[in-house]
Amino acid sequence: MPASHDRARNHLERLSAGLSPEELAGRLAPKLHASPARVPLASQTTPDVVDKRWALIPHAAGLRPEIADEASLSRHELYAHNIENFIGTVKMPVGLAGPLRVNGLCAQGDYYVPLATTEAALVASYHRGASVVTLAGGCATLILNEGVARAPAYAFHTLLEAGNFVQWCLQHMDDLRAAAEATTRHGRLLDVRFAIEGNHVYLMFDFTTGDASGQNMVTIATQAVCDHIAAACPVKPQYFFVESNMSGDKKASAQSLQGVRGRKVSAEVRISRKMVTRHLHTTPEKMVDYWRMSALGGVLSGTIGVQGHYSNGLTALFIACGQDAACVSEAAVGVTRFEVGPEGELYAAVTLPNLIIGTVGGGTGLPTQRACLEILGLAGPGHARAFSEVCAALALAGEISIIAALAAGQFTQAHARLARGQKNAKTAAEPPSSDAGT
Ligand code: NAP
Repeated sequence: MPASHDRARNHLERLSAGLSPEELAGRLAPKLHASPARVPLASQTTPDVVDKRWALIPHAAGLRPEIADEASLSRHELYAHNIENFIGTVKMPVGLAGPLRVNGLCAQGDYYVPLATTEAALVASYHRGASVVTLAGGCATLILNEGVARAPAYAFHTLLEAGNFVQWCLQHMDDLRAAAEATTRHGRLLDVRFAIEGNHVYLMFDFTTGDASGQNMVTIATQAVCDHIAAACPVKPQYFFVESNMSGDKKASAQSLQGVRGRKVSAEVRISRKMVTRHLHTTPEKMVDYWRMSALGGVLSGTIGVQGHYSNGLTALFIACGQDAACVSEAAVGVTRFEVGPEGELYAAVTLPNLIIGTVGGGTGLPTQRACLEILGLAGPGHARAFSEVCAALALAGEISIIAALAAGQFTQAHARLARGQKNAKTAAEPPSSDAGT
């Protein structure tokens, strides 16, 4: 990560102002004096254990009721499998966007979407996009692919051994599948892909994971396959690891755009010219002009895929609904496309290949997270596909709103008004009036 010499020099001068070279060295040197008491690592969430943890941070004692509040402590046992060293809960504001009409194979109807965020203008923007999508009759959504990978890797002495190992795996696929599926009632091993690099072999185990997002499920199943290989395969590796960092877990990569992680979903909508001008205060042409320029801006800056702000809506929805928010790293990869249709209408589409979400497992059973899934009507088994379609529909609503705001020159005013409270700033984030027709 190079920096120009001027910037590097200025930066160092600013940072080190007033410090002698000895003081600088002293600040960065290891400090080997005794550390304060370590938080004992434990899954217990009982109030007596919580008390002991708070005793370690007496300077924060006055803040304790904010985090270790009555409601959180009274159902502390619910958190035991979601957090270690529990001291309470952080409260996030939750806003409701919608209704968002989704015409999917799985999601059908008008959804009120809970979004947890501390970012002003975010809910307003998605709310506006959702309202316009709904007025237009809703968006169509389709799941294009499903699968979650775990990718162990094996090191051999020679390329020949690596090849022999792959051949053995190919001859024993049924055994590998049986070992994996013995660990889960809902996970299914779909496929195994192989990549040989010198004397290393990367295996990509692709699973479906039912209504769970499935990261634990595929890890446990893959470990069972690795254990079976260790016991049964005559070609012995020098070493192996259950995950080689090739699965795409929690990172955007080139394969994030090509493959699938969780569910790959497309959503599209056509919005009449009249609706665009009336509710979005711009024109389809202007929105397409902005989309084209922003798409090229993305290409020039080296983004993977081309989209405006999928991460805003997805992060807020993931936090509200007990998803692993870190997976927005890969979930927010995708492609947005806007066109002017044959009748002068706006055609808008999004495709997100990595919607790794669940309606069971992970954080989905926690009290407030479960409540947010219930608001959507999508808590529990049987709803993960519909939830993934709602995620894509929400991303589409967000793209429409932000592109309209930028096309109409209202982006800055919306943030000034909603985030800074500048009352006179006109905003693009007003939802359309309820009597608005087409
Ligand atoms: P999980 O809560 O560990 O497992 C899901 C559980 O739900 C399984 O016991 C499964 O049973 C059960 N289940 C019941 N009904 C189901 C249904 N209809 N469909 C699917 N499963 C059903 O959750 P997970 O989804 O496997 O893992 C998600 C968590 O893993 C997230 O919290 C994420 O943060 C975390 N994570 C883990 C790793 C890792 O490498 N371990 C990496 C990243 C994230 P069966 O197993 O019998 O099918």
